[in-house]
Amino acid sequence: MSSIPKIVILGAGYGGILTAQRLQKELNYNEADVTLVNRHDYHYITTHLHMPAAGTDSIENTRISISKLIDEFKIDLVKSSVKEIRPQEKKVILVDGTLSYDYLIVALGGEPESFGIPGLDEYAMTIRSINSVRLIRKHIEYQFALYKNEKTPQERINFVVGGAGFSGIEFVAELADRIPELCKEYDVDPHLVNIYNCEAAPTALPGFAPELVEYAMDVLRRKGVTFKIGIAIKECTREGVLLATGEEIKAATVVWTGGIRGNHMIEAAGFETMRGRVKVDEQLRAPEYDNVFIIGDNSLVMNPEGRPYPPTAQIAMQQGVCTAQNVVSTIRNKPLKKFEFSNKGTVASLGKGEGIAVIGNKLLKGWSAAQLKKVVDMRYLLTIGGIPLMLKKGRFL
Ligand code: FAD
Ligand code: NAD
Repeated sequence: MSSIPKIVILGAGYGGILTAQRLQKELNYNEADVTLVNRHDYHYITTHLHMPAAGTDSIENTRISISKLIDEFKIDLVKSSVKEIRPQEKKVILVDGTLSYDYLIVALGGEPESFGIPGLDEYAMTIRSINSVRLIRKHIEYQFALYKNEKTPQERINFVVGGAGFSGIEFVAELADRIPELCKEYDVDPHLVNIYNCEAAPTALPGFAPELVEYAMDVLRRKGVTFKIGIAIKECTREGVLLATGEEIKAATVVWTGGIRGNHMIEAAGFETMRGRVKVDEQLRAPEYDNVFIIGDNSLVMNPEGRPYPPTAQIAMQQGVCTAQNVVSTIRNKPLKKFEFSNKGTVASLGKGEGIAVIGNKLLKGWSAAQLKKVVDMRYLLTIGGIPLMLKKGRFL
């Protein structure tokens, strides 16, 4: 190892930004070289993406220049895409170069899981990045424009969302809020528009408090959403979707929110994975590589009952903080910390003024949950960018 250890962080999402910020705070001058690699020069707030996707918020509110979040005198920001990770050689191959490291933090986020369902990769859109939601937003607007210019245009204003997990429900809610606006702009009768939310499991939001699931579905039904629950999407085609019941829904817009898996590069690097995610040790390191930390959507951390925690921004952030501490401790030959997830609760938005939340034993619904969602969002902005960022990008109560 060189005299100054090299730390490379891959990905500037929730896990990567928190790791970078904590490292820049903890490390002494010349104690380590830190490089942060990200595909874009901005960080995006993934937990907001359903809003710009539907067109109920701007893209600009959802992204932040990374140079505003880190001290570039302390951290070297490399705007590039990672192509390959070679843990045995301690190297990362970028599209335009190679980086070597002593310590690696992999925080590249997950990828949509299509379970091999035919046609999904070709014909469905996903909510994963600024570019992907820009496409959804523009595509939806274009369907309304086309509707007025075609002879049999119903499929233009049929919308299918595959999966009623949190991403699906939050997006459907925003879409339902946006439709009246689009109808007004394009002179379309709102009664003619259909939004279908298809869910394979016997309930929407599987595993969530049934009382809140009922509430969420009622709110969304009132906004015009049709649920197809317990019915899997079997195939996606150019014309729409085929359901397990044999029914076909013709729709020019299919948004897939059926789940996520780990980044394909993790498997390709030779790490042992389950759905692309690595079961990390208690200090968040990859098995067999003491110098590789894997966090966020690419890591698998078990709860005390032996089941994996769901991949969330909340856990990714806590892992980022823990990883920064552990990397510093490794460099200083100090004992490492065991990662323990502290669950602060779950809050989901159901569009304008509506939400659901579980905080400890408390169930919240309606306006109070919607306000709580805004508080959570503002707290995040405060954590990564202080009061100026909160004032600039925050959605106030
Ligand atoms: P990410 O935040 O996804 O960051 C990964 C980063 O790596 C990105 O900056 C990306 O550009 C970069 N990257 C990817 N590939 C490459 C490459 N090859 N080269 C270079 N850079 C690359 N969780 C919650 O806790 N609460 C919520 O309310 C919530 N809402 C959500 C709403 C939606 C619509 C979605 C999709 C998810 C939501 N989640 C929520 C889940 C949460 O967003 C993720 O669990 C979280 O973003 C994972 O953080 P991460 O650091 O692993 O990856
Ligand atoms: P998910 O895996 O939680 O939900 C996907 C849903 O799609 C599941 O209910 C699944 O049964 C369904 N599905 C799978 N195959 C299907 C098929 N063929 N046809 C129809 N339905 C199908 O994925 P997600 O909603 O994208 O969430 C990913 C992670 O992000 C989760 O950990 C979630 O908790 C987190 N998240 C949290 C929030 C929040 O806290 N507000 C919001 C969004 C996402």
